[in-house]
Amino acid sequence: METGSRKGWENYIRRVRPYVPGEQPKDKSIVKLNTNENPFPPSPKVQRLLNNLDAEIFRLYPDPAMELLVEELAKFYGVGKEHVFVGVGSDDVLSMAFLTFFNSGKPVLFPDITYSFYPVWCELYKIPYETQPLDENFRISVGDYYKENGGVIIANPNAPTSIYEDLDVIEDIVAHNRDSVVIIDEAYVDYGGESAIPLTGRYENLLVVQTFSKSRSMAGMRIGYAIGSEKLIKALNDVKYSFNSYTLNQVAILAGAEEVRDRDYFYERIEKVIKLREYAEERLEKLGFDFPKSSANFLFATHKSVHAKELYEVLRSNKIFVRYFNLPRIDNYLRISIGTRQQMDKLFDFLESYLSGRDN
Ligand code: PMP
Repeated sequence: METGSRKGWENYIRRVRPYVPGEQPKDKSIVKLNTNENPFPPSPKVQRLLNNLDAEIFRLYPDPAMELLVEELAKFYGVGKEHVFVGVGSDDVLSMAFLTFFNSGKPVLFPDITYSFYPVWCELYKIPYETQPLDENFRISVGDYYKENGGVIIANPNAPTSIYEDLDVIEDIVAHNRDSVVIIDEAYVDYGGESAIPLTGRYENLLVVQTFSKSRSMAGMRIGYAIGSEKLIKALNDVKYSFNSYTLNQVAILAGAEEVRDRDYFYERIEKVIKLREYAEERLEKLGFDFPKSSANFLFATHKSVHAKELYEVLRSNKIFVRYFNLPRIDNYLRISIGTRQQMDKLFDFLESYLSGRDN
C-alpha cells in the first residue's frame, strides 16, 4: 500500500525529532566551551590502568551486572549495591528510566527551561508531558508539581540555567508525589549542590541520576548511574536486560571503578573548576554580563547591551565555541563551560577587545 509518495512501510517508521548535541569539532585549536566537559583529565590511576591493559580482556563478554563498578559506586555513596544502576552515560540511564517508570498515560512534568533531551524521550516513547514554567528568575515554583502526573523529572542544578534548588524544594516535590516516580538529574551536582542521594533511603519513589561526564572527567567513556530504592533499581535492570545485557564495555567498567577509587583527586579537581568559575564570574561581570549564581561547571550569561546571538556568532567565527539556544526566554543567553585558565583568558580577552571596539 502506498499513501501519497510514501511506500507503505515508510508510514510505519517511528519518526522522531532528535536531540541535537553540542558540536565536537575536529580542529584542536578551537577553544571548546560548548559541552560542559571537564577541562582536566581523569585520575592518573586511570591512565596507569589503561597503559597496562591487555587486549586479551576483549575476548570475553563483559560482566553484564558490572559488579566491579557498581560496588565502587555503592561504597562511595554509602549505599548497598542493590541500590545502584549503571548505564552508558546518564543519557542512557535517563532514557531507560523514562521507558521503565513513565507508563501511566498521565503527563510527566518538568520545567519549561531544562535539559532539552526530556521532551525528546517523551516523544520517542510516546509519553505525554506538560512543561511547568520557571519563574522570571528561572526558579521552580513547587506548587506546579502538586497536581496529578505520570512522573516528574528535575535537573538539579538545572541546565542550561546553572541554578541549584535547595534539597528542601526537592524533598517537597518528592513528598507531594508519592504515587509517581520522581527523577532528579544531578549531572552537575558536584560543583556546588547537595545531592538528593540521602533522601533515596526515605523515599522509595525517588531516583537520583549522575554521570562520569562532568566532575569525573570521563565524557568520552560514557558512564552514568542511578541510585534509588531496591524496587526502582530492580525495575531498571529488568528493562535493561530486556534491551541489551552488555551495556558497558570492559574498559569502561575497569576505568570507571579506578576513577571512583581516587577520591582525593576527584575532590581536588572539583575545587580547581570552582576556582576557575569564580575567576570567570569576575571577568564576565567586568565585561557587562549578568548571570545567575552557578552551582555547575558553566555560566549562563546575558550581556547588558549586546545580543547573545551576535556574541555566539562572532565567538564562533573566532574559533571560540560556546552554546547558544535559540529558544523562547533564553535566546539572549550564552552557556559558557568552565575551561582551563588559558581557555578562559582567550575567551575574555577576545570579548574585551570585541566589546570595546563595538559601539554599545
Ligand atoms: N543531564 C544533563 C542535565 C546534562 O546536561 C547532560 C549532558 N548533556 C546529561 C544529563 C547527559 O550526560 P551524559 O550522557 O554524558 O552522562
